[in-house]
Amino acid sequence: MLEAAVTFFSGQFQPHGYCLLWQPGLIWTHVVSDALIAIAYFSIPIVLVSFVRRRPDIEFGKMFWLFALFILSCGLTHVLAIWNLWHGDYALEAVVKALTAAASIPTAILLWPLLPRMLAIPSPSMLQRKNDELAAALAERDDVLGQLRAEVIQRERAEAALVQANKMEAVGQLTGGIAHDFNNLLQAISGNIELIGMMPDKPDKVARWAANAAQATERGTKLTGQLLTFSRQQRLEARPVNVARLVGGMEGLLRNSVGPTVSLKVEVADDVGTVRADPTQLELAILNCAINGRDAMPMGGTVIVRAEPEGDQVAIRIIDQGVGMTPEVAERALEPFFTTKGPGSGTGLGLSMAYGVARAAGGHLTIDSKVGEGTVVTFVLPRAEDDLGPPEQAAADPRQENARSAEILLVDDDPAVRAAVADMLRSRGHRVTEAGDGPQALLQLERSAVELLLLDFAMPGMNGAEVAARARELRPDLRMLFLSGFSDSAAIDRAVDGKARVLRKPITASDLADAIDEMMG
Ligand code: ADP
Ligand code: MG
Repeated sequence: MLEAAVTFFSGQFQPHGYCLLWQPGLIWTHVVSDALIAIAYFSIPIVLVSFVRRRPDIEFGKMFWLFALFILSCGLTHVLAIWNLWHGDYALEAVVKALTAAASIPTAILLWPLLPRMLAIPSPSMLQRKNDELAAALAERDDVLGQLRAEVIQRERAEAALVQANKMEAVGQLTGGIAHDFNNLLQAISGNIELIGMMPDKPDKVARWAANAAQATERGTKLTGQLLTFSRQQRLEARPVNVARLVGGMEGLLRNSVGPTVSLKVEVADDVGTVRADPTQLELAILNCAINGRDAMPMGGTVIVRAEPEGDQVAIRIIDQGVGMTPEVAERALEPFFTTKGPGSGTGLGLSMAYGVARAAGGHLTIDSKVGEGTVVTFVLPRAEDDLGPPEQAAADPRQENARSAEILLVDDDPAVRAAVADMLRSRGHRVTEAGDGPQALLQLERSAVELLLLDFAMPGMNGAEVAARARELRPDLRMLFLSGFSDSAAIDRAVDGKARVLRKPITASDLADAIDEMMG
C-alpha cells in the first residue's frame, strides 16, 4: 500500500501522449481545447470576485467566492491535462482533481437551498413595475394632500371672514350703544341748558335745570368710566386689597341690591388673601355680577358670593341658580353693550366692566353657565405678593377740612378747558398761572414759586409726560397732578414713576378740590 503510494508519487509514468500514439491531430486538439477551457475557467472567477467585491450588498457573497474557487480549480485540471500529454505527473493531477472535488461538493450542496432565495430576488422589470405602482400611489397622495391643503385654506378664509364679521358686528353694537346712550345724555344736558338760556331770571328753576344737566354729565362720566375699564385704558388705582375685608364689607350693599325676593349668602374664607386691584372698581364689578344673578332669578332664589384662596390665586365666585345662558349668550356676554335685557333695564356693560377689572388686576373672568341650571361667574385674581403701599381704607380718608390755598401752574392746550379749570381753582381760593404748552409752562416754572403743577396729558409738541419729566429735573419736590382724558396711563407712569396723581376727565370741581387738598395737606 505504502509502496504503491510511493510508486505513484515518484512520477515513473508514461506521458498521456503515448496513449494518443503522438498523433499530432489528436494531441493538438487536446492542447487547444484544454487551453481555451482553462483560460475561460480562469477568467470567470475574476469576474465573480470583482462583482461581489464591488457589490457588498449582494446576498450570498460567500457562495460567489466558493464558486470562484471551484471554477479556478477546474481550470487548473485542464492545465495539468496539457502538461501530462508530455509528462507523467498524474499524482499532481489527482491532487488537483481532489481539490476540485472538495470545492465542488460544498458549492453544489450549498447552492440548492439558496434557490428559493435567488428566485425571490426581484427582476429589473418587477422592480420597475413596483416603482411605477409606488409613483402612482405617491401622485395620488399628493393629490389628496393638495385637496386637503386647499380645503384648509378655504376654511381658514371662512373663519377669518367670520371673525371679521363678528368683530364688525361687535364694533357696530359698541358704537351704536355709545351713540344711543350719549344722545340721551346730550339731550338731557342741552335741553336743560337751553331752558336756562331761555329763562335765566328764574333762579329756582335754573338751579334745578343746572342740577339735571350736572346729573346727566355724571351719568356720562360713569358710562365712559365703565367703557374705559373694559378697554383697560383707565388708570385704575390698583393697590393691595384684602379680599375678605372687601367682600365682607359689601354684604349690606349686596343685600340691598338683590332686593327682597332673592336671598344672599356671603361666604368668605378668612385666609383668602390680598390682591392688587382698584377696590372701588372691584366692588362695582362684584355688585354688577350679583345684580345679574338677581335678574336671572325673577321667581326668587339665592345669590352666593364666595371668596376663597386657590393656590397662589384668589377666586371670587358669584353663583346663582337662575335661567342661565345659552352658549351663544355666554360667548358674547363680555362684549360691551351686549344685553338680552329689554331697553331701559340693561346696559350690557356690567360683565364687560367686570372683565376689565379682572384683567387690570392681572387675572381673568370666567363664566360657567347652563340654561335652566344657573350661572357661576368667577374672578380669578393673582394673590398680591407685596402688602406694601397704602391699605385700601386710604381711599376713604376723611376730607381735609382746613384746606389751604396753593400756587398752581395749570398747563392745558385747550383754552376752553383751561379757562373752566382755572375758574374752578380760583373759586376755591387758589392762585393760578396758566400755560398753553410745555415750553411756556417750563418758563413759568422757573419764574414763580409754583407748588403744584396741573398737567394735561395729550398736548401737541411736548406731551404732559415730557413736561413732567423736565419739571421734575428743575424742581424735584414739585407736586404734580395729571388731568388725563384717556389712555396712556403707562406713559404717565413711566414719566413720573408713581410720584404724580391722575384725575380722569371730565372732572368735577369737587373732585379737583379734594385731590388738591389731599396733595397739599
Ligand atoms: P346687562 O346686565 O346690562 O344685560 P351684562 O354685561 O351685565 O349686561 O350682562 C350681559 C348679558 O349676559 C345679560 O344681558 C344676560 O343675557 C347675560 N347674563 C349675565 N349674567 C347672567 C346671569 N347671572 N345669568 C344669566 N344670564 C346672565
Ligand atoms: Mg348686568
